[in-house]
Amino acid sequence: MPSSSLSRGLAFPMSEATAALHGEVWTFAHDRLVPLSAGFDCGDEKDPEIARLVREAGYLGHYVPAELGGHGLSVTNISVVREALAYGAVAVDEFFASQGIAVQPITLFGSEDQKAHYLGGLLSGSRSFALCVTEPVAGSDVAGIRTAAVAVDGGFEINGTKRFVHMADTVDTMVLFAKTGPGHARGGLTAFVLDRPEQGLVVTPFPLLFEGPEFEVEFQGCRIPGTAVLGSVGGGMGVAMSNFDRIRPSVGAAAVGMAQRALDATVDYVQSREAFTQRLADFQGVRMQLSDIAVELAAARLCVYAAARFADEAHDDADVRAPAAAAKLYATEVAQRVIDRCVQLHGGVGLVRGSVTERLYRAIRSTRIYEGATDIMRIVVARDLLGPRARR
Ligand SMILES: Cc1cc2nc3c(=O)[nH]c(=O)nc-3n(C[C@H](O)[C@H](O)[C@H](O)COP(=O)(O)OP(=O)(O)OC[C@H]3O[C@@H](n4cnc5c(N)ncnc54)[C@H](O)[C@@H]3O)c2cc1C
Repeated sequence: MPSSSLSRGLAFPMSEATAALHGEVWTFAHDRLVPLSAGFDCGDEKDPEIARLVREAGYLGHYVPAELGGHGLSVTNISVVREALAYGAVAVDEFFASQGIAVQPITLFGSEDQKAHYLGGLLSGSRSFALCVTEPVAGSDVAGIRTAAVAVDGGFEINGTKRFVHMADTVDTMVLFAKTGPGHARGGLTAFVLDRPEQGLVVTPFPLLFEGPEFEVEFQGCRIPGTAVLGSVGGGMGVAMSNFDRIRPSVGAAAVGMAQRALDATVDYVQSREAFTQRLADFQGVRMQLSDIAVELAAARLCVYAAARFADEAHDDADVRAPAAAAKLYATEVAQRVIDRCVQLHGGVGLVRGSVTERLYRAIRSTRIYEGATDIMRIVVARDLLGPRARR
C-alpha cells in the first residue's frame, strides 16, 4: 500500500503486535504475491503452490489459539492478513479465507480433542477444510437447511445436498450443518466436523463466474460418529452465526485490499496514458474521481477495522452482529464501485482479459453475496435499529 499522507492520516489504531504483522504481511504481498499474481486468476486457489505459500508464511495460525501453537484468534489480525493477501493475489486470500471460515467453528466450539486433532492438522498442513452450509433450497435462510442428520447406532446418517462448497473435491475435513430436529427451526440445526466420508459422497463441479473451485456435494447415507458433533446437538444456528459474525469484517477487509490494488494500478495508468494531448491525470475530472475513490476507500477501511476491533473486545456475541454486517455491507459495496470506476478510468484496457482491473472486476462480485448477501446485511442492521420487537 503506498504511504500517502491520506493513508497514514486515516490509518486505524493498531497494537504493537498488529502493527508488526501489518508490516510483515504487506511486505509479503508486495514482494512475493504481486510478482506472482499475473499467474493466478481468482478461483485458482486449488493450485498447491498457493497452499504452500500461505502455510509457509504461517498465516493459518491466525485461526488457532496460542495454547495450541497458533497466533490466537483475532478478527483484527485476520482482517489485516486478508486485506494484504487480497491486494497481492485474490486466489491466495481465497485459500486463506476458505480454510478460516471452515476451521473457525472448531476453534470457537470444538471440544479439546477436536481442537487438538483438527487444528493440529491445519497447522501441520496435513488437513484441509471445507464449509458445507448452503443448499439448493437454503442459502441466506440458514434455518431452512434440509440436509438431515438422523441419529443411528453409534452416530448419525447424513442425507442431503450442499452447494457452492469451496474445494470440496480435495479437502479431507468438512464442517457440516444439518437438521437434527423437525421443521424450519433454529433449534433443529446441528454443526458437525467430519473426515471426508469414504462412501456415499458425490462431488460435482459447480462453476461460477470464473473457473473456480466450487462444488455441489451430495451426502447419500453417509455414516459419521457421534463424536463429530461440534458444540451441542441443536446448537448449530449459534455456531453458524458466531462464525459469520467473526468472518464478515474480514470479507470487507479483503474487498478493500482488492479495491486498493485497482486504485494503485489506476494512479499509475492515468499518469502514463495521454488523451487530447495531455495525461489523463492532468484532467481535473479525472482527479476528482481519484479523490472520491481514495476517500471512500479510506472510510470503508476504517469501518472494517472498527468492526473488527469491536468484535475482538465485545463480551456478548450478539453485540458483534450489526457492526460486522455494516462493515461487510459498506466495504464490499464501496469496493465494487471503486473497481468499476477504476476499470472505466482505464478505458478498454481495463477489460483486457488477464489485466489487474479485469480480474478484480470479476473477483469482487462474489464478496457482496457470500458470508451474507448485502440485503441480508441490511436486514441485520435494520433489526439492530428497530430493537427486540423486530424479530424477522
Ligand atoms: C464464490 C462463492 C463461494 C461460496 N462458498 C461457499 C462455501 O464454501 N460453503 C457454503 O456453504 N456456501 C458457499 N457459498 C454460498 C453463499 O454463502 C450463498 O450464495 C449466500 O449465502 C447466499 O445464498 P443464496 O445464494 O442461496 O441466495 P438466496 O438466499 O436465495 O438469496 C437470493 C437473493 O435474495 C436476497 N434475499 C434473501 N432473503 C432476503 C430477505 N429476507 N429480504 C431481502 N432480500 C433477501 C439475497 O440478498 C440475495 O440477493 C459461496 C458462494 C459464492 C458466490
